[in-house]
Amino acid sequence: MLNRRGLLQTSLAAALAGCSTKPDSSFEPSPPLAPIRARADRIIDIAVCLRPFRPAGPRVETERLGNVLVVHNYGHGGSGWSLSWGSSARAVRLAMQASPADVAVIGCGALGLTSAILAQRAGARVTIYARDQLTETTSARATGEWTPDSRIALAHAAAANLGTVWEEMARTAFKAHRNYLGLPGTPVEWIDQYAVSDDTPRGTTGSNTGSNTGSNTGGSAAIPPVGFVSYARRIRDLTPNWRRVPADATPFKATSVSRGEIMVFNIADYGHTLMNDFFIAGGQFRRADFRTPAQIAALGKPVVINCTGFGARALWRDESLVPVRGQIARLIPQPEVRYGLVYRHVLTVPRRDGLVVQSFAGGENQGYGDINEAPDRAEAEQAVRTLAELFTKSA
Ligand SMILES: Cc1cc2nc3c(=O)[nH]c(=O)nc-3n(C[C@H](O)[C@H](O)[C@H](O)COP(=O)(O)OP(=O)(O)OC[C@H]3O[C@@H](n4cnc5c(N)ncnc54)[C@H](O)[C@@H]3O)c2cc1C
Repeated sequence: MLNRRGLLQTSLAAALAGCSTKPDSSFEPSPPLAPIRARADRIIDIAVCLRPFRPAGPRVETERLGNVLVVHNYGHGGSGWSLSWGSSARAVRLAMQASPADVAVIGCGALGLTSAILAQRAGARVTIYARDQLTETTSARATGEWTPDSRIALAHAAAANLGTVWEEMARTAFKAHRNYLGLPGTPVEWIDQYAVSDDTPRGTTGSNTGSNTGSNTGGSAAIPPVGFVSYARRIRDLTPNWRRVPADATPFKATSVSRGEIMVFNIADYGHTLMNDFFIAGGQFRRADFRTPAQIAALGKPVVINCTGFGARALWRDESLVPVRGQIARLIPQPEVRYGLVYRHVLTVPRRDGLVVQSFAGGENQGYGDINEAPDRAEAEQAVRTLAELFTKSA
C-alpha cells in the first residue's frame, strides 16, 4: 500500500516496492482527464510560508499567566489544516474546564478559527485577536490536502504519547472535515490523484531508469536527514488505498501510473466558510500584535487559546519551533481539471482557487530550518516545465 507522503518522500518505484507490479484487475475506469495547461505565463501567484514545526510535536497544553488560563495550540508543522479540528477539540476541552463565559483566541489561522468555532459551540463568547486575518496567514498559503502526519515531529524527539494523541486528533479532524463536503463553494472535496512515473516498477527489472529517483534527502545534499515520524499506518482504515492502474487506460505516456483518492481543502472557500460561521455565531475579530504574554494577560479574559503558529517562537520564546519553508505556485484555475498529479517530485492539486503546483525535489527535508520567505520564481517555473513535459509527451 502507498500513501501520498510515501509518494513525495521517496521515488515512486521505491514507494511501490512490495506492491504488485501488475495493474489492479478491479480497475475502475477514470472519467476523461483534461490536460493541464502547464505554462509559466499562467502562474498567478507564488506563495511561501514557514511550517511551524516542533521536533516534539504540536504543543497542546495549559499554562497559568497570573489569573489567566492559557491553552497552547500551535506547532502543527505540515499538518495544520488536516489536524485542525482534532487539535482544537483538545485545546477547547482544556479551555472550557471552568466553563468561562468569555474566551480569547490569539491567531486567525486554521488552528485559531477552528478553536474559536469549537469554543463558541461549547457556549463561550469568543473574540479572536490576531496580527493577520486568515487570508494573510501561513494557513492561507498551504497546499490544501489531507496530510495529517506531514512534518509533525522528529522520530528521536517526539513526545512519548504523541502517536496516541495524534491518532485521536486525526480521527476527530477527519470526521469534522466531512461536515464541509457538498457545501456551496466546495470548501472540502474528494478527488482522484494520479502518481505518474517514468521509472520501471521495482521487481520488473530491478532498476530505476527514470529521473523520479529522489530519496528522503532528494537533491538537497546540504540538508541533513531529519527523520520525521510517520503515523499514517494508525489511520489506514480512513482512506482508500492507492492502486496501480494500466497506464494505457490514462492519457499519460508513462511506465507506471497509480491512482489514489484524496481529500482536498479549497482553502479560499474553506477559510471563507469558517470566518462566516464564526461571525454568524457572534464572534468578534480584533487586530492586535502582541509582543509579550503580559499584553495578552492584560486583555482581561479568563481563558486564552494561543494559536499563533510560528509566531509563538517570538511571542512565547519557544525556541524549539523550527521553520520549514515551503512554496506553492498557483496556475489560473481550470475547472475542467478535477484530478491531482504527482510526477517527478512535482505535486499538482486542482484547487478551485488555482491549480497548485509544488516542487518536492528536495524531499521531505526541503526547507528545514530555512526562514527565507522570499518567493523563488525559478523553482516555480521549473515545476511547471516538468508538468509541461508530461503533457507534451502524452499529447
Ligand atoms: C507550503 C506549505 C504547504 C502546506 N500544505 C499543507 C496541507 O496540504 N495540509 C495541511 O494540513 N497543512 C499544510 N501546511 C501546514 C499548515 O499550513 C500549517 O500547519 C498551518 O497553517 C498552521 O496554522 P496555524 O493556525 O497554527 O498558524 P498560522 O496560519 O500561521 O496562523 C497564526 C496566527 O497567529 C497570529 N499571530 C502570530 N503571532 C502573533 C502575535 N505576536 N500577535 C498577534 N497575532 C499573532 C497570526 O497573525 C495568524 O493570524 C502547509 C504549509 C506550507 C508552508
